Amino acid sequence: MKIAVIGSNYVGLVVATCLANTGHDVVGVDIKPEIVAKLNRGESTIYEPGLSELLTTNLSNGRLLFTLDHYMAVARADICFLAVGTPSADDGSVNMSHLLTAAAQVAEAATAPLTVVIKSTVPVGTADRVRQIFAERCVHPAEIVSNPEFLKEGTAIADFQHPDRVVVGTNSDEAAEQMRELYAPFVRTGHPVLAMSNRSAELTKYAANALLATRISFMNEMANLADAYGVNIHDVRRGIGTDRRIGTSFLFSGVGYGGSCFPKDVSAISHMGQETGVSTQIVNAVTQVNADQKRKLGEKVLRYFSGDLTDRTIAVWGLAFKPKTDDMRDAPSRVLVEQLLAAGATVVVTDPVALDEAWHHFGDRVRYETSAMTAAVGADAVCLVTEWQPYRFPDFGALKVSMRTAALFDGRNIWDGAKRIAEGFDYFGMGTPSSDRG
Ligand code: NAD
Repeated sequence: MKIAVIGSNYVGLVVATCLANTGHDVVGVDIKPEIVAKLNRGESTIYEPGLSELLTTNLSNGRLLFTLDHYMAVARADICFLAVGTPSADDGSVNMSHLLTAAAQVAEAATAPLTVVIKSTVPVGTADRVRQIFAERCVHPAEIVSNPEFLKEGTAIADFQHPDRVVVGTNSDEAAEQMRELYAPFVRTGHPVLAMSNRSAELTKYAANALLATRISFMNEMANLADAYGVNIHDVRRGIGTDRRIGTSFLFSGVGYGGSCFPKDVSAISHMGQETGVSTQIVNAVTQVNADQKRKLGEKVLRYFSGDLTDRTIAVWGLAFKPKTDDMRDAPSRVLVEQLLAAGATVVVTDPVALDEAWHHFGDRVRYETSAMTAAVGADAVCLVTEWQPYRFPDFGALKVSMRTAALFDGRNIWDGAKRIAEGFDYFGMGTPSSDRG
């Protein structure tokens, strides 16, 4: 099939490369010339394991191309994916301007009947709005399919190629069949393609993200109680995760969730509740708990140093909102760094891949180090914010010697606190046994 993908960043780029890799002829579109130029040179614009290889393979075999030209991409397409951003507006509602603009551009560029697939995460009723745009601007019939994406940054390629399920919202049997055919290579082991109405598909995506965010905020609340009572949250997690009704996923406590999806999607539900007059107390609380949780690590640091960080140097290990990505959208590290700077600290940051991105947020207000060990030299504390694998087992002996004050603030509970304390560190986790001070 000939496929156009509008929006070529995290989601659009993964969709375009994975579909090209199954033999389709794919053109990705973006409005940013620098993205299009870089991708056409075979350079990935985002850090995502496995993506560069897929990109170069499919560019060189001619099945994949990127362009700024919506007309060129859409005129030749059987299917057009909309994968542009749907960020939060200031009031917590979804900023629909990119999606609606892209829909209008596609409607005007279509030269034949087209299946339009809304890949972006969009509020309930969006497919109807897109249908209306096509009715007003396009003389050719268009089927509007809602096909939310569940990939996770860091494992995006694997997630897209091996989805737990594919959700297809449409009122057209033909469009549903077309989507089944498109996804067939990825669901060969029996994972379902679930056909439903557009509105059901739209709400399914928000419900999935809100439930996962709820588990995280719930566990963070339990971790705070664990701190207060001297309980080890790991025991509690194991104790409940082994209950098959609960399961083990998304039960790790830490410094809160971030990224481009959970924060905005949870707020979007609150906003949908306001719009419809439906109470959304649980998701409202999830957002508030998460905002508070992002400040908890900084509060521990401040308590440890009696509220004064002037003349203190704090190393922050990990800036991306999670490992294996350079994405810092709504990352907990951003809240922590601002807290530390506001308290007068000298802040040294490090991350395996997100330092360029970090510059956009912190500029010259912090010092950048490419190595975690170098970042810690002379530091009064190390704050672990992103659980990158190489941070799990640093040379703790060398670390202790190189720091000015040997204090570890483990925002992801990846270190064994008892061992660190035995080695002479002051150690503070998130609901795990910690040193007395802090
Ligand atoms: P993004 O903002 O990183 O990328 C969107 C891209 O679209 C940008 O490169 C932008 O320049 C481009 N764009 C904007 N308007 C355009 C237009 N009119 N024509 C062509 N290109 C245009 O967003 P993302 O993270 O890729 O997410 C896209 C959608 O997928 C969002 O709705 C998001 O909620 C959803 N989603 C994201 C993830 C994720 O992990 N990032 C996972 C699942 C779903």
